[in-house]
Amino acid sequence: MGVRSPGQNRPGGEKKSGEELDKIVARARQTLDERMKGYREQSLRIHPWVCARCGREFTVKNLHLLTVHHKDHNHENNSSDGSNWENLCIYCHDNEHRRFLDYEEGAGVGESGERRKPATHKPFAKLADLLKPDKREPHESS
Ligand SMILES: [Zn+2]
Ligand SMILES: [Zn+2]
Repeated sequence: MGVRSPGQNRPGGEKKSGEELDKIVARARQTLDERMKGYREQSLRIHPWVCARCGREFTVKNLHLLTVHHKDHNHENNSSDGSNWENLCIYCHDNEHRRFLDYEEGAGVGESGERRKPATHKPFAKLADLLKPDKREPHESS
């Protein structure tokens, strides 16, 4: 007559709840990963496997060359209707981002460059013009 109801005071009970927590965390991470990856698959499901720029068609064999571009360049804007996604081949996708960067850089440099040049030239010239004669003349004459 030894063992009657085993397992009530098992430490296993505590372990189980810990494992469950781990499982929940793992599941949450998985769904997040799936969501992050998901937009490409979703876009490929919604849109045809054709590059929106060059019209190149893709099959399962070369589908890895087809990427999903965010039209507004905001990777967090993943509307489930796919309105912010565009299927682009890696070349056109690269091109698209370069064009976007060129445009931004060009506009930025153009504006600040034009503003800076006269801004730095004017006070410099004025300072030199004003300081030299004004300070030296009275100094030398007095
Ligand atoms: Zn393309
Ligand atoms: Zn993109």
